[in-house]
Amino acid sequence: MDTKKNNSIDRREFIELSAKGGIGLASLALLSGCETGKTPKTVHGACYHDCPDRCSWHVTTVDNEVTAFKANEDPYTAGKLCDKMTDFPNDVTFHPDRILTPLKRSGAKGSGEFIKISWKQAISEVADRLKNIIDEKGGEAVLPYSFGGNQGLVQRGAVANRFFVHIGASQLERTICGDAAVAGILAANGQTTGVLPEDIIHSRYIVLWGTNPVLSNQHLWPLIQQAKSNGAKIISVDPFQSATSEESDWHIQPRPGTDTALALGLMHVILNENIQDQDYINNYTVGIEQLKAHVQQYDPVRVAQITGLDEETIISFAKEYAQSTPSVIRVLIGLEHQVNGASAFRAIAMLPALTGAWRHFGGGLMHMTYELFGEALNWESINLPPELANPTTRSINMIELGKALNSSELNPGIQALIVFNSNPAATTPNQNLVIKGLEREDLLTVVSEHFLTDTTRYADYIFPATSVLENWDVFSSWGTPYININEPAIEPLGESKPNSELFRLLAKEMGFKEDYLYEADMDIVKKTLDSQHAYMEGISFESLRKHGGQKLNIPSRWMPHAEGNFKTSSGKCHFYDPDLEQPLPAYVPFQYSEEEMKKYPLHLLSIKTPKNFLNSSHANVDHILKKEGKFYLEIHPKDADLRHIADGDELKVYNQRGRVLITARISNKVRQGVVCMPQGFWPSLLKGGSSANALTSHLLTDMGRGGAIQETKVEVEKV
Ligand code: SF4
Repeated sequence: MDTKKNNSIDRREFIELSAKGGIGLASLALLSGCETGKTPKTVHGACYHDCPDRCSWHVTTVDNEVTAFKANEDPYTAGKLCDKMTDFPNDVTFHPDRILTPLKRSGAKGSGEFIKISWKQAISEVADRLKNIIDEKGGEAVLPYSFGGNQGLVQRGAVANRFFVHIGASQLERTICGDAAVAGILAANGQTTGVLPEDIIHSRYIVLWGTNPVLSNQHLWPLIQQAKSNGAKIISVDPFQSATSEESDWHIQPRPGTDTALALGLMHVILNENIQDQDYINNYTVGIEQLKAHVQQYDPVRVAQITGLDEETIISFAKEYAQSTPSVIRVLIGLEHQVNGASAFRAIAMLPALTGAWRHFGGGLMHMTYELFGEALNWESINLPPELANPTTRSINMIELGKALNSSELNPGIQALIVFNSNPAATTPNQNLVIKGLEREDLLTVVSEHFLTDTTRYADYIFPATSVLENWDVFSSWGTPYININEPAIEPLGESKPNSELFRLLAKEMGFKEDYLYEADMDIVKKTLDSQHAYMEGISFESLRKHGGQKLNIPSRWMPHAEGNFKTSSGKCHFYDPDLEQPLPAYVPFQYSEEEMKKYPLHLLSIKTPKNFLNSSHANVDHILKKEGKFYLEIHPKDADLRHIADGDELKVYNQRGRVLITARISNKVRQGVVCMPQGFWPSLLKGGSSANALTSHLLTDMGRGGAIQETKVEVEKV
């Protein structure tokens, strides 16, 4: 079966496959129980996406047909899913292009030609090949590859993790997003959970630094608006004029990658103006003398040169921030994907301690909330069994996938790649190197997926994965203090199975006897929630099934650092740490060669500007693609003039790694010298067959081994 044929799988074939699982398509018509005369059933679930909001929903079905899909009314979801998810059952679960049987490659890698085979045959053939690879080369020749395509604790790991450790597979460093930020904040504060999202309504000075909540944290935005109506000033710090910047009171637009310098410049002004909270500093921080001496080199004149901002902007921003109470800095993804990314988070994380913002309810730093769940849940259920813990097998950084697949130095080389919850041919940096690796005839590539993605086109075997409406799961959150379970609303469509079942079946076929490889999904969910921690008081498997998402039982006035209590070795905020390679955060820009700067003078930002995709999810759905519109490069009028580019011209954006074809949109949303390309589009669905990651490199960040994907230089020309 070729890709085109599969993409145009007809409705009759879909109904046949659906009927095999006893499923109809009534979800498309949203019939009521009364109309069918059958008893409706309602279950609770949650959004599986890599999004800080983790919305909670309920699904009503009648005789295995979805009749309603609605947001829950808990205070955070507040009865509203974002536009990306309102039609989820039709856009994903019941989408006619969905893969509903195992497929085996029948043409060349990348051709997208497959034949349908049975699960029995697919499992038997994959297990045989894995056994041979392990016998000949060792377990490390197998590499799992997964990330945030499904954030359910069961479907993203649990059984899969046990399987891979059991066979001795290479470990994957899943650091493409989040780890640089966490490393930076931990270096200063020892924990990342600061101000909680619902408490932002008490803030009166809100700095949104490297984040665009209007599009990508949509349930935080109304709370920010509430704070604004209570008198808060909203400041957006972003090198791109985002939807949030446009709605803010003040948009500060530094050059990309200069945030560390800006944060250190703010400290310079605060300390030299003597508007810091000296009492807080004396009691709850270490290293103020070293910090004060260090920031003298970041005076407003120099910081203005680095950031491209006016000196007055830097001085006013510092004074306003230090003298407003309560002040909160909301930091998120935009900041971290630069070579200086962890240092930027580290420097910014020090600001609330310098000003004493932590003393006030609604004041401090807002980042992730996952640490709350780290304490609350019974992680023994999700983590590896003790006999499997601390494996000494090698690890491979997911950002360097292209390098690993093409390496002649790795011993053993990667012989099998098993992908789930991820589409690395679209989402991993250095796309052409990744694809070159995926083209290797000797590489066994296995993918568990919903659709024929760019990655599956190179697969030897594709397994049909269930959607979130069809499997059990439990969801923590990295952006809220709410927990959810996800109860299957319908039986799996066609022959789809949860990721967990794929790994149980492989384990069985490979002859493994250990019980931990076969634990059922619902049992894992129940055990995960079986915790005596105070945060879980009043929360259980039964209560979540009944009510949907519940807030962890945390203190109503969550002020983690009002009196210090940092989770560092000293219990104080570390302005200075002699044990770190860099005892103080410093602005250390990436050194491009003169030749590179000459050939590729424009800085490329590839960011989450699409309104209708969630990373690369849903970017294959026709009506969503139409709604999103063209694939545009934002280019400053002066850069366009220099290259004789007019609005709407077809462009080639290129560097030493690849080229992308795109349409010009001349605008002042970017500074001169910067161009901006949206993330999320699938390469194979674009003219030219490449997306932003064809230009990005697998460079790593200063700490946390994250992806410095915004550290990319390009040139642009008309085609
Ligand atoms: S993508 Fe985010 S905002 Fe949209 S429904 Fe999912 S969790 Fe909510």
